[in-house]
Amino acid sequence: MTNAEVQHWIKSCLRKARYGDEEKALRSVDRCQRERPGVHLRIYACDYCHGWHLTKVRQQHESVGIH
Ligand SMILES: [Zn+2]
Repeated sequence: MTNAEVQHWIKSCLRKARYGDEEKALRSVDRCQRERPGVHLRIYACDYCHGWHLTKVRQQHESVGIH
């Protein structure tokens, strides 16, 4: 593994909550989005641990803070 690959692994897998199956991940998305309206999450299957993780979806129409 290169250093960049290790960094990607840490960011996309090790630092995140892991869900053993798709259904659990989806349930967590549901809960998070209810707690924080406006946050959009999607789930992805992880190549590293073969589990599922959540990631934030950036809204294209959302302001990025440049005014
Ligand atoms: Zn993972």
